[in-house]
Amino acid sequence: DIGVGSWPRRRARMDPGAVALVQGDRRITYGGLARRTAALAAALSGLGVRKGDRVAYLGPNAIATFEAFFATTSLGAIHVALNARLTAPELSFLLDDSGARVLFLAPETEAEGLAAVEASTTRPRVVRLAAEYERLVDEQAGRKPPPVEVALDDPALILYTSGTTGRPKGAVLTHGNITWNTLNQFAHFALGHDDVALCSAPLFHVLGLGQITLPTLYAGGTVVVIAKFDPGDFLATIERERATAFPLAPTMLQMLCDHPAWEKTDLASVRLVVFGGSPVLERVAKSWLDRGIQALQGYGMTEAAPGVFMALGRGARERPTSAGVPHFFVEVALLMPDGRIVTGPGQGELLVKGPNVFSGYWNRPEATADAFVDGWFRTGDVVRLGEDGWAQIVDRVKDLIISGGENVYPAEVEAAIRELDAVEDCAVVAVPDAQWGETGMAFVVTRPARRLGEEEIRTHLRHRLAKYKIPRYFTFCPALPRNATGKIQRRVLRERAETLRL
Ligand code: AMP
Ligand code: MG
Ligand code: MG
Repeated sequence: DIGVGSWPRRRARMDPGAVALVQGDRRITYGGLARRTAALAAALSGLGVRKGDRVAYLGPNAIATFEAFFATTSLGAIHVALNARLTAPELSFLLDDSGARVLFLAPETEAEGLAAVEASTTRPRVVRLAAEYERLVDEQAGRKPPPVEVALDDPALILYTSGTTGRPKGAVLTHGNITWNTLNQFAHFALGHDDVALCSAPLFHVLGLGQITLPTLYAGGTVVVIAKFDPGDFLATIERERATAFPLAPTMLQMLCDHPAWEKTDLASVRLVVFGGSPVLERVAKSWLDRGIQALQGYGMTEAAPGVFMALGRGARERPTSAGVPHFFVEVALLMPDGRIVTGPGQGELLVKGPNVFSGYWNRPEATADAFVDGWFRTGDVVRLGEDGWAQIVDRVKDLIISGGENVYPAEVEAAIRELDAVEDCAVVAVPDAQWGETGMAFVVTRPARRLGEEEIRTHLRHRLAKYKIPRYFTFCPALPRNATGKIQRRVLRERAETLRL
């Protein structure tokens, strides 16, 4: 069994007393993590969870998130990481789509979670944190789950992402995908048992789980779990825990260097900050570099677990806006407008291949087929590969708004707006935003003689969609620009959106 669920047991064998996880005043050693994970796996097994079954987790970052991940995957079952910001209707769709048998549910998200279970057809068994969860761990203390053979090609994790249809789809990452991503990070960062990683990026996103965090646990270092990002608290935690490394979305990095405590905070322990997930302001990267910290841009995606490019060392200082070079075991190529696949240099849609790249979406053979060309994963991003192999992220060909590190898929928002009777047509596009990178602007066409106000749309959306997906701006217009084949001309709308906002 070489699955990711065996990592705590392997680390406990080497150094059981080393601290694995910290949250507030709680500290758990690798020995403790291995024992608790085994007990939780035995409990899940008692609830009927078998190899290949799905076990969902809903809640903010917690020590329990890691325990649930390791316990589930040690059984060969699949951890379904649900976004804690979603509404009940969004969550019940994901419970049914994944067919989750068990749902771990944190108190912070209990109301939405229970409503989602109520509305679902699969009706997973709910295990509530902390009381019932701790009771299960106590009851099973000292027990071991039945042995299960887990291979690298077995699925370990489902992370939901969306796409052109508006229906979220689950990217399935295998034990191998996660392991190879971890080894790729090692080739760049050489994390070790002295590293202390701050884990504030949400564990329901690949940045939170795959970038630095799991690699630190693989290396025997300490992960400090932060449930809610607050720039002042984060800076204080760096000092208190003597943090050495962390991944963050650019918006959060910017909040840290704009915070009044930034200048006074002792950052001497920090050796590595990795940012990515959306474009990064040069000014923000520079604030960190000026404090003598390796602030490295990374580029990746859920489907690549996530690392594709990573900046490194001297090259990064010379090319502050570059996303870096491919990770050790990653191959890249470019899909040109005429359909040719070239390995660069040049500019085109980035294609990715490697043992970290997923092999498909959960129960979506068509979406999976669309995602690949000749065995390459199509990223939907336009990238320029230089003569020296360094990459510049230029644009996106896919419709996607990245707002404060959260992805918003216009198709999903548009579908929700169209549910209103008075709406004849609508389109949502990205507009630049100083704080969040991008936000959404909705263009809405109402039916003749129907009245509809912005507040009415907002009220409707609040019941249907997570807050971060609701457009910041609404514009009513008589018609949407379409091309000859009837496709909405999003580029025209993006330009109009920028002039309207000024
Ligand atoms: P996700 O589905 O959340 O993994 O988002 C992946 C997408 O985020 C990529 O396809 C890119 O469009 C975007 N992205 C990730 N890293 C960067 C970066 N360093 N610069 C610009 N865009 C990025
Ligand atoms: Mg995606
Ligand atoms: Mg993202």
